[in-house]
Amino acid sequence: MQNPLQSLTTLSAKKEKQNVCILGATGSIGESTLKVLALHSAHYQVFALSGHGRLDQLAALSARYQPEYVSVPASKGEQFAQDLKQRFPNAKVPNIVEGEAGLKFIAEHSDVDVVMAAIVGAAGLEPTLAAVQAGKRVLLANKEALVMAGSLFMDCVRSSGAMLLPVDSEHNAIFQCLPADYFQTTERFQSHPSRAGVSQILLTASGGPFRQFDLQQLERVTPEQACKHPNWVMGQKISVDSATLMNKGLELIEACHLFDLPAERVTVVVHPQSIIHSLVQYVDGSTLAQMGNPDMCTPIAHALAWPKRIDAGVAPLDLFQVATLNFEKPDEVRFPCLRLAREAMQAGGTTPAVLNAANEVAVAAFLAKTIKFCDIPRIIQAVITQLPMIAARDLATILHYDAAARQIAQKIVQTSV
Ligand code: NAD
Ligand code: MG
Repeated sequence: MQNPLQSLTTLSAKKEKQNVCILGATGSIGESTLKVLALHSAHYQVFALSGHGRLDQLAALSARYQPEYVSVPASKGEQFAQDLKQRFPNAKVPNIVEGEAGLKFIAEHSDVDVVMAAIVGAAGLEPTLAAVQAGKRVLLANKEALVMAGSLFMDCVRSSGAMLLPVDSEHNAIFQCLPADYFQTTERFQSHPSRAGVSQILLTASGGPFRQFDLQQLERVTPEQACKHPNWVMGQKISVDSATLMNKGLELIEACHLFDLPAERVTVVVHPQSIIHSLVQYVDGSTLAQMGNPDMCTPIAHALAWPKRIDAGVAPLDLFQVATLNFEKPDEVRFPCLRLAREAMQAGGTTPAVLNAANEVAVAAFLAKTIKFCDIPRIIQAVITQLPMIAARDLATILHYDAAARQIAQKIVQTSV
């Protein structure tokens, strides 16, 4: 992550109105980002938007926010332009770019100051990396990018001078609780019991909708049940990941890369109320927590304005109403995805990318009702076993392993139909 002092200098040199590019504007994070931006239109303007499915929604966003650029899937540009003109005849028609090249184009455009990386899954990796390489202020929601290519990604942040700010609520919470000199100190956990006084990170998890289900009940759960998260409203894929605890596994890997930590320094704590978003423990016995109502507008506003604080449109926390906070150990027998992710992080190299790809295929098959909920970790385990780890030296190797893992996972899915 960027040295905060360097970031402060960069910020002071910036112009008055920041141009924002939202990758994944039609999703849940995209929607929350637009909500926060609408509160601060004097300081931010929507410069570019991307969407993949639901292009009708993207057209409505384009008519409302009048961006300079809109990025749509390959060969959908003409259809998008026609739809926009037909439904919103008075709206300004933006420049339309297409496909992977279009996403990259808007992510690294020289007029863009801030990139919200909110595409779901591996599809977000290359445009997010393009934004990092172009030295942008990158608000990172797309955790899969870091899971797949963590070391490469963080090396790129360091060499490009990009400012990477975590949007995932847990990582944003940790970022808020870390000491100011955390990124400057020469201490490293590998050779020192603490770093800038920090001894470990406590990553909170809601436990998802099936926290109290036994193994027999878990065998029968449906996608509809999995997508009904008790505390958060999110996209379908992350909702299923939350239900399997793979989301926490991906976040563990994300935390290791963002904060340069070994997996052993991250303890997952199930906290069903989702009020504490994560904690940092110090050598003097202090534990700092960041708390708030479960609303992604808070971490988005924090990442957008840091080191300033701006209104996120979120109601203040009412502790009298919350009254009780509970904590439990995660159960890795019922939820093996958490263990699989930790082991993938410890194995390193291409294994986290393989884990992520196998998970994306398995989750899509579960959402399509082709496999059962408990098949998800079985498939991931089988794919990891078939693809032994090699060093993730470059992006091409990572993408090759991502594709190979998808192919194997698809085969397993097809044989289980
Ligand atoms: P979502 O499914 O609601 O939206 C995903 C967005 O990505 C949409 O705009 C969609 O059009 C776009 N997209 C999907 N596939 C694409 C492809 N192949 N190419 C280009 N664009 C594509 O997802 P979400 O819940 O907003 O999550 C987005 C990311 O943020 C995920 O990585 C998720 O893990 C992370 N995140 C989400 C939340 C949350 O509360 N929703 C919280 C923390 C982190
Ligand atoms: Mg999270």
